[in-house]
Amino acid sequence: MKYIGAHVSASGGVFNAPLNAVEIGATAFALFTKNQKQWKAAPLTEEVIEKFKQNCQKHNFKPEQILPHDSYLINLGHPETEKLEKSQTAFIDELQRCQQLGLIYLNFHPGSHLKQISETESLSRVADSINLALAQTSDVIAVIENTAGQGSNLGYRFEHLAEIIAQVEDKNRVGVCLDTCHTFVSGYDLRGAELCEKTFAEFERVVGFNYLKGMHINDSKTPFESRVDRHAPLGAGEIGWDCFKYIMGDERFDGIPLVLETTKPELWPEEIAELKRLAGLSD
Ligand SMILES: [Zn+2]
Ligand SMILES: [Zn+2]
Repeated sequence: MKYIGAHVSASGGVFNAPLNAVEIGATAFALFTKNQKQWKAAPLTEEVIEKFKQNCQKHNFKPEQILPHDSYLINLGHPETEKLEKSQTAFIDELQRCQQLGLIYLNFHPGSHLKQISETESLSRVADSINLALAQTSDVIAVIENTAGQGSNLGYRFEHLAEIIAQVEDKNRVGVCLDTCHTFVSGYDLRGAELCEKTFAEFERVVGFNYLKGMHINDSKTPFESRVDRHAPLGAGEIGWDCFKYIMGDERFDGIPLVLETTKPELWPEEIAELKRLAGLSD
């Protein structure tokens, strides 16, 4: 079964996210559990948590259909100790919020070395940060997203994801999310079924589909290998519909949230309907 949705607004309270998802015909969704541009947020109240759980239950969203995303400020591979610790504290708080909401995933970008330490060193810091955070929480899986590789961002090679996973102690609580736009601009071609076959075989070889816990379904405004992260509506970018058709027809992408982060939310109902059609699902 394919779970298809988008990164919806949680404005007014996290409990609004499942309602916004239903509105667009989604069977999966992503959300921020706090303001993604701020370090701190007020703790979730019992009332908010209860309302979120009720809305999810009412609209049949199970934890495996929901992919929360952490704050963009967090850098778990930070070269400076003080700033690394600030990020780790914030990451633990994000994991705890997910745990309180009864969720099982937390999606995040690995981090950046900021040209002050090597990639390898920074990747080890990411893994250490994950180990630290997992030890202080339970149930939630840390889901590392592959990146476009802008600036000094880590995670633009499948090998980076594998290197982090190798250093995480509890392999049951680590996973990955592949973003089709990031995959493409970082140098893994997805234009057509044949190239998708090749790219995902490479993913299987280096990381393994057993670690795949979610996908971000985006077209790319920028060209192949550009390492510039600009999402586009499906079919309106450099990747094209054949890739999305391939994913919708492949069982390896069943049972995980497939989430749009495309740039025109007004198109989400249409994009979701078309993806569902390609997956052989009726509305
Ligand atoms: Zn993404
Ligand atoms: Zn992106």
